[in-house]
Amino acid sequence: MPLYEYYCDDCQKDFTLLQSSQVNKDETQCPDCSGTRVHYKLSTFAPKTKGFSLENKAPVTTKDLPNPNVMNLPIPRLRSEL
Ligand SMILES: [Zn+2]
Repeated sequence: MPLYEYYCDDCQKDFTLLQSSQVNKDETQCPDCSGTRVHYKLSTFAPKTKGFSLENKAPVTTKDLPNPNVMNLPIPRLRSEL
């Protein structure tokens, strides 16, 4: 999910929101003053490092898939698995 950077005209602060790209950015509210006079600045993809993942959660591997062999399957088979 992308991170969006906004600037609030009302309290003159930058803030960052983690939003779906489906969200209507014109309706975004400032988390500080609930103002709607916010300007979308830019977006970056959320890093998968600290802050967005649980510290002790192991990274997802093929062992976590329902069928661990799914990566070894030929492509046509893989499509049918999905
Ligand atoms: Zn504000």
